[in-house]
Amino acid sequence: MKILVLNGGSSTLKALLCEFTGPRPPESPQPPLWEAHAEWGWRPGLAELRAKNACGGIDEREIPIDASSAVIEPLLAALWEGPARVLQSRGEIEVVGHRVVHGGHAFTETTRVTAEVRAAIARLVEFAPEHNRLELEAILAAEAVFGEAVPQVAVFDTAFHTSMPEKAAVYPGPREWLDAGIRRYGFHGISHQYTSRRAAEILGRDPASLRVITCHLGNGCSLAAVRGGRSVDTTMGFTPIEGLMMGTRSGSIDPGILIYLVRHRGFRADQLDHTLNKESGLKGVSGISGDMREIQAAMEAGNPRARLAFEVFVHRLCREIGGMLASLGGLDALVFTAGIGENSPLVREQVCRQLEFLGLKLDPQKNVASPRDEDIAAPDSGVRVLVIHTEEDWEIARECHRLALAGW
Ligand code: AMP
Repeated sequence: MKILVLNGGSSTLKALLCEFTGPRPPESPQPPLWEAHAEWGWRPGLAELRAKNACGGIDEREIPIDASSAVIEPLLAALWEGPARVLQSRGEIEVVGHRVVHGGHAFTETTRVTAEVRAAIARLVEFAPEHNRLELEAILAAEAVFGEAVPQVAVFDTAFHTSMPEKAAVYPGPREWLDAGIRRYGFHGISHQYTSRRAAEILGRDPASLRVITCHLGNGCSLAAVRGGRSVDTTMGFTPIEGLMMGTRSGSIDPGILIYLVRHRGFRADQLDHTLNKESGLKGVSGISGDMREIQAAMEAGNPRARLAFEVFVHRLCREIGGMLASLGGLDALVFTAGIGENSPLVREQVCRQLEFLGLKLDPQKNVASPRDEDIAAPDSGVRVLVIHTEEDWEIARECHRLALAGW
């Protein structure tokens, strides 16, 4: 089965072609047959869509697809045209899988895209404006390229966390919030799902018997508490701003700060949005960069603000791990993944030192030897520590395959 994966972020669209032979996908990821990237993003006209949305929902037929077609069609045509083609024709693609950031509370699992599903994704644009809208455009553009007969599948970043108990998902605000969909959804679910399952595989354990904290530490950062293969708690909430300190996002802060900024500094919603999403986190505290490599380099060069940013990052990470630990009621494995989690031995070392009271012991040599899909805990550690390369695209392809075999 040839599966095309379209993974659209807020500025880049990644396309991959995977092939699965046999009735079961291989557990460990295989290299894709083909891979390509394109820049894309927010288009003019959004303000009007937002205004419409505020007045009662977007009619998906009103969302223009020209810009995404302009990006997606030439990107995909390289698959079956030109010197580097890997297919004879587009007809060889049997299914297209999409990462969709927000599936709300309704989408608890991977779902074949229908007109109703598209309309629901369009309604959720209100909750994840940049992502859902672009992802919807990718769905419409793929349909224009492949036709209606080729199944399209939405793999939601929120779905993995729909298993969270209500007590972890409900905000202690007024009752109307919950009725209006203001609740904790959690994100990075595709990565947390993949890495928690892969952890069980690397450890040779049954996922049903494992308590894992997965630390997805990239530009965006979140934790998930996973028991028996199901998410029971996570750090991101209604939006990806909640929880850990990130590259340019603040993570959790006192909401009273927002009231203060509105009342005394004249902030409007778009300024708050920009400040919390783009000017905070490592970038805000250091005044240098939201990129951990630059923070570590500046810290080594003696920059005190970079050191402070790093220390706040690690402190908040440890504090939130403590929260996940309590939600799980114990811990078998701590997993580090994504850009920082996979590549910063210093972050791993500092976090693990803070958790030594759990009986957790890192193997210092393994920690600095660029581990990948490896257990880096000392043999006598009471908790296993794993570094796992996250494979979100592979997980999307796997989900498409699973759904196809289940007859959609
Ligand atoms: P991601 O969003 O998964 O691509 O992760 C991006 C983050 O990973 C950025 O903060 C990078 O600085 C960080 N990162 C990548 N490589 C390294 C490295 N060798 N050491 C520290 N941080 C890294």
